[in-house]
Amino acid sequence: MATVLDGKALAERIRAEVKDEVALLGELGLATILVGDDPASDIYIRRKHEAANEVGMRAVDVRLPVETSEEELLARIGSVNEDDGIDALLVQLPLPAHLDEARVLRAIDPSKDVDGLHPWNAGHLLLGRPTFVGATPIGILALLDEYDIPLEGAKAVVVGRSDIVGKPVAQLLLQRNATVTMCHSRTRDLARETLAADVLVVAAGHAGLVTAEMVKPDSTVIDVGINRTDAGLVGDVDRAAMDVAGHMTPVPGGVGPMTIACLLRNTVQAARFHRGALVFPRV
Ligand code: NAP
Repeated sequence: MATVLDGKALAERIRAEVKDEVALLGELGLATILVGDDPASDIYIRRKHEAANEVGMRAVDVRLPVETSEEELLARIGSVNEDDGIDALLVQLPLPAHLDEARVLRAIDPSKDVDGLHPWNAGHLLLGRPTFVGATPIGILALLDEYDIPLEGAKAVVVGRSDIVGKPVAQLLLQRNATVTMCHSRTRDLARETLAADVLVVAAGHAGLVTAEMVKPDSTVIDVGINRTDAGLVGDVDRAAMDVAGHMTPVPGGVGPMTIACLLRNTVQAARFHRGALVFPRV
């Protein structure tokens, strides 16, 4: 039976550390912008705000109607960029189809871009000089480190190549000297790839995509997926894989809580940067 990688417990510790740092730094603010009324996005935003309030941050919840024009959205981002009381800004994705996501993300001040989606931050990660890295990939690395999972020379396989999870997590693993393979929907033989993985990260958004038979014995499995099914909330990896893996994240209680905790930690990092206490390459 796999050792459970307890994201909830580690996230609680990180949140307590963040709370102490917030108390030292004084007022700091996290803003979110949600366009439209997607129910899943609404839940994610509310969780982020509750967590921010709990550690003493000011959380600003900007809600815009689904018909908001690109110019209106860019203007709102511009005013948050200008607001010295706000250290971190995230625009909740996905955006309604009429909005150009790449243009919107480019409008965020890179020093407030705690999701690491502005090309300035994404580019620095690619070049091996990370600045802001999104909360989910950073949270996954923190969890692997917490349990001393060896990465140097390990074969890591990442299923999914999204900008928010798959690509950044693969870069972080590469920087830690893992040999990284990225899989996606056109990968010919997914099982052959996953079976070779010492560290397997699955972020595809398909319940049970990876079965127990696709997992290498004693490997480490990080299940990023969040899928709402009749059987409740499940990940992308079949729970039976717990009998094969050496370490595995549960769903819920694995990567999810780490994402929220690391978003708060990124917000503290932004605040330290804005107060001159942390040096990044020039923005
Ligand atoms: P996404 O943008 O939809 O990307 C999914 C990726 O999976 C794509 O690269 C896609 O390949 C690949 N994929 C889809 N079906 C596949 C298959 N059958 N075989 C191999 N690869 C396949 O999703 P995302 O935003 O990265 O999120 C992925 C999952 O993680 C979702 O369930 C999401 O809810 C969850 N998530 C959880 C957290 C958390 O905090 N726990 C945070 C973020 C996301 P193509 O590129 O070829 O289409």
